[in-house]
Amino acid sequence: MFPHLFSPLTIGGVTLANRVVSSGHDTVMADHGQVTDRLVAYHEARARGGAGLIVVQVAGVHETARYTSHVLMATDDTCIDGYRALAAAVKPHGTALFGQLFHPGREVMDLADGTLTVAVAPSAVPTERFRVMPRPLRLAEIREIIDGYGQAAARLQRAGLDGVEVVASHGYLPSQFLNPAVNLRTDEFGSTQEGRLRFLREAFESIRRHCGPGFVAGLRISLDERDPAGLPADIALAASVSLAADGLADYLSVTTGTSASLAGSDHIAPDLSSPNGYVAPLSAKLRAAVSVPVLVAGRINQPQEAEHIIAAGQADACVMTRAMICDPDMPGLARAGQTDDIRACIGCNQACIGHFHLGFPISCIQHPETGRERLYGIRRPARRPKQVMVVGGGPAGLKAAAVAAERGHDVTLYEASGRVGGQVLLAERLPGRAEFGGAIANLSREVHRAGVTVRLRGPVDLPAVLEQAPDLVVVATGARPYRPPLEVMDGPWIADAWEVIRDPGSAPAGKIVVADFRGDWTGLGTARLLAAAGHEVTLAVRGYAAGESLQQYVRDRLLAAVSRQRITVLPLVRPYGADDDTVYLQHVLTEEPVLVENVAGLVLACGSFPSGELLAALESAGVPAVGIGDCLAPRTVEEAVLDGLVAASDI
Ligand code: SF4
Repeated sequence: MFPHLFSPLTIGGVTLANRVVSSGHDTVMADHGQVTDRLVAYHEARARGGAGLIVVQVAGVHETARYTSHVLMATDDTCIDGYRALAAAVKPHGTALFGQLFHPGREVMDLADGTLTVAVAPSAVPTERFRVMPRPLRLAEIREIIDGYGQAAARLQRAGLDGVEVVASHGYLPSQFLNPAVNLRTDEFGSTQEGRLRFLREAFESIRRHCGPGFVAGLRISLDERDPAGLPADIALAASVSLAADGLADYLSVTTGTSASLAGSDHIAPDLSSPNGYVAPLSAKLRAAVSVPVLVAGRINQPQEAEHIIAAGQADACVMTRAMICDPDMPGLARAGQTDDIRACIGCNQACIGHFHLGFPISCIQHPETGRERLYGIRRPARRPKQVMVVGGGPAGLKAAAVAAERGHDVTLYEASGRVGGQVLLAERLPGRAEFGGAIANLSREVHRAGVTVRLRGPVDLPAVLEQAPDLVVVATGARPYRPPLEVMDGPWIADAWEVIRDPGSAPAGKIVVADFRGDWTGLGTARLLAAAGHEVTLAVRGYAAGESLQQYVRDRLLAAVSRQRITVLPLVRPYGADDDTVYLQHVLTEEPVLVENVAGLVLACGSFPSGELLAALESAGVPAVGIGDCLAPRTVEEAVLDGLVAASDI
């Protein structure tokens, strides 16, 4: 089905079996700078699934490159055994393996002991996102770092990797050297464009010197950093062309964005508001100017998109990293024509880059087996097949039903309404979040493939369970909106966010206050929905800012939309009461009243309340039952799906 995507591609002296690439992405699976068994298992799953090339996450080339407490380091020979284990696990599957060589320059996030590091850069120019002022590198340090690229590459070569990639993307150190707004040096590493390119050129020369001519060395670069102070696109393009023309870069991997600014960083892992394959026009421009292979990233989450990009000549291979975080088997399924069975990434960013930002190993909300390969990577067949009744067709129930049936149990899933999906059916109705509903399409497919019997419009109570007499009941009955106690006078219009999402037209004309408890998509999305319907909206949030519990890139995009829609955000307030034209809030720190007047109504996005009645009844009656998802405690889709996996793996 995908003749271009599944044709071989030669890069330097290495031939990839296909053009599906997992690019370097920090997994938070390194330990003390070293490759771990967990990281090996993670990448082996992607190799087994059919990836043509895996580029391992960044590895520091110098002691000053520790940008997080969990970065890999390739600064001494102790790294070799770990990389060797990676190569031994990945390459037998026919997948080529490269490593990323990295220095963040001023883009540092944290240190292991919680203190701030002394960041370095070509010049003392601050970075906006992490609000860091670096010190200028000394000449001797620059030469040490350049030598570090060569030494690190040689270690990876000795470990059996096929090549390395110099990370000049996203505003990291090589990009800082290239950027005239960041590199103010007047020595040989600055002054002119050739001087600003010297760092990168000498880094490649160092790799060539240490590794010899046959070892692949590529360049990752942002052709548009999407930041007014970022690396100008024409300079990035010229540098890429020059390194390729001089035989230094064997391939060019094109991305976009920068770590240095909030808006620029949103392109590091663009969320579902970015169009699929939106970077391809940039890679096409570069591909027309060079003769080496060009790779491209940018929310390419389905093989159809990748095939189109390659067939159109916009790139030679496609970076599909999150597509394989979500479904490691995606390449093999695509090649076999089983496209309906691919679990497509929905661009939510919650468990992949979201976990990374929180300092936890990455995973996927739809596929919690990711990052937990050693525990859940292989389904254990049930020792004794059981009759399992799953009550509730939200994400938790769907996952539990699919996994239990895959293990050989006889599973029937009961959903009280006419459609499975639970709260995802609300989330997908919010502005810009239609793709989120893909999570239910994917889980439903898993349920179907596993042979689960699904009964819709089938509310289940204790007598119904006793009549069926299953071996086990998995209770996934979800949650319902929570209403905090309020002082109410004169009959104000008050509604739960869920009601408004289902029927935005139900809100009376005029100004609406949305009271937001969790700082997630519910309050923000409801506010946007009402603003789009013509209401003046005030979003009253309990925390420091709207969207506080969302992954940064997702939050940024939503906050930008909120700003464009002229929604007023009131931080640090809780709802206290309402009358027919005023909403009374209370400052959470001072307890002083905050009034919003001339209001037509109040919408409560105040979290939810567990629907745990069936679970309690079963437990009282001594019926074997296990609760999962929001009926235990309302959380997110991620925890619901993980609960389903864990519970069903134990049956
Ligand atoms: Fe994609 Fe969301 Fe999974 Fe990340 S957590 S891989 S964005 S579906």
